[in-house]
Amino acid sequence: MTNYSSNRKLYFGAGPASLPEEVLQEAAAAVVNFNNTGLSILEIPHRGKQFIAVLEEANALVKELCGLNDNHEVLWMQGGGRLQFCMIPMNFLNQEKTAGYIDSGHWAHEAAKAAAYYGNTQIIASSKTENYNQLPLLPESIDPSLAYLHFTTNNTIYGTQWTTEPKTSVPLIADMSSDFLSCQRNFSDYGMFYACAQKNIGPAGVTLVVVRKDFLEKGNSNLPEMLSYAQHVKQQSLLNTPPVFAVYVSLLMLRWTKRQSLAFLENTNNEKATLLYTELERNSLFTPNIINENHRSKMNVCFKAINETAEKGFLAFSKNKDVEGIEGHRSAGGFRVSLYNAVTLAAVKKLIAFLQEYEQVYLKQ
Ligand code: PMP
Repeated sequence: MTNYSSNRKLYFGAGPASLPEEVLQEAAAAVVNFNNTGLSILEIPHRGKQFIAVLEEANALVKELCGLNDNHEVLWMQGGGRLQFCMIPMNFLNQEKTAGYIDSGHWAHEAAKAAAYYGNTQIIASSKTENYNQLPLLPESIDPSLAYLHFTTNNTIYGTQWTTEPKTSVPLIADMSSDFLSCQRNFSDYGMFYACAQKNIGPAGVTLVVVRKDFLEKGNSNLPEMLSYAQHVKQQSLLNTPPVFAVYVSLLMLRWTKRQSLAFLENTNNEKATLLYTELERNSLFTPNIINENHRSKMNVCFKAINETAEKGFLAFSKNKDVEGIEGHRSAGGFRVSLYNAVTLAAVKKLIAFLQEYEQVYLKQ
């Protein structure tokens, strides 16, 4: 197999994000010949035993890595994070009930907006007026009669992250798209959580959904099959033709995650983020956007330069060093460096060295 390491760039994109080279190699091999079947992974039938085995192993690994038992169902779905924004209220909200939403960033806001088409929503906390550059303060008590409480564990665009769950008796639903399996969480406490794969657990094209059986049972039953979680569970993610290749690459990522261990990945993610934030505090040209250290994301580090010259200068300087994907989201500007599981400590140290080198270059100009 060709060794691509020598010409791979240092990639810090927010998603589709970096994947480990060994996973890319395995995926590439399966495109040519999957498990010695003489067929490509792109050619195998989705209801055949080969793919059923892929689904079963992926489901078992999700449960193992999250410490879940058979009280939870695992689904692989299409339509991205955004389809979940619509399916959640369709399945779990009705005219008599209200759903609670925590508005901590763009995606959290979009989720609440979608739910408002289907029923009553209540924004129980928001940091919109602070431009989402901090986490909102949660109320002392949350109405226990809410149908569910939705929140976004990591705010990909603004770079804030919740490290704990809101305290409530209301069923919790979390969008974990941009930090799933980057750290331990009390996964069994959730009624449902979901993650589009293209950040920490795979390629674009598939979204992982995990739903607790007792919560699922409370869901609406009068829905078209494709929009019903219960129907997807009944058909074991095979209601229609699933994105076979995306699920397979997600399985490769789950195997890789298990080999690394969640504890190791969490420690390394902490170390990567601490090193980068420390450098941004020290470097005279850059400052982190999120001031409160307890609100800072370990996955998406957002920062700005002191002026446009330094911003454009560092972008050009780093591009020259084969660094890609550090521009901020188009709505936020500045820089965003994503430190997902597949981004190595060595890559982060290299980026830090470039930030230091550029500071010297700039100051001598
Ligand atoms: N939620 C979060 C936290 C995200 O970061 C994103 C995409 N960046 C989405 C949802 C939307 O995902 P998709 O593009 O797969 O619909």
